[in-house]
Amino acid sequence: MIKTKSSYIVVKQSSIHNKGVFAKKDIPEATRIIEYVGERITKKESEIRSEIPLKKSKKSIKHGAVYIFELNKRYDIDGNVPYNTARFINHTCEPNCETLLISGHIWIVSIRDITKGEELSYNYGYSFDDYERHKCYCNKTSCVGYILNEIHWHKVQHKKRKIKKPAK
Ligand SMILES: [Zn+2]
Repeated sequence: MIKTKSSYIVVKQSSIHNKGVFAKKDIPEATRIIEYVGERITKKESEIRSEIPLKKSKKSIKHGAVYIFELNKRYDIDGNVPYNTARFINHTCEPNCETLLISGHIWIVSIRDITKGEELSYNYGYSFDDYERHKCYCNKTSCVGYILNEIHWHKVQHKKRKIKKPAK
């Protein structure tokens, strides 16, 4: 299969993690930038596959890549295929994109105006289970230190405050 393309983006080395996806030109807010494509798999298959990268990531310094997206109640999409260019988009704690399910297709959509040259990112939205295994290196001001769905951030931030030494 041919790699998915979009006139909006270019893939190159990222300072966050391996390769990244960058804006080739200015992208207005609410633009469908590129479709997140992959292999359509059943929920059961998805469970089996998602175990593998998680175990591998235990030893690695950076996060293990999980590319599985929910498509509907029966099927998921495994984006870990060479033709899925969107798999290079990194996670950050201050994303400029989000993933949206539009008429049965997963799209990377800009959530604000993006300037030419900016790296695209979205929140991978990982659950709170084993969050410590997925450290975040995005370097953004609001970075919580982990790749984590924003709904769980308060739990981690609370922990951070707890370990602070008292001021003298
Ligand atoms: Zn971060």
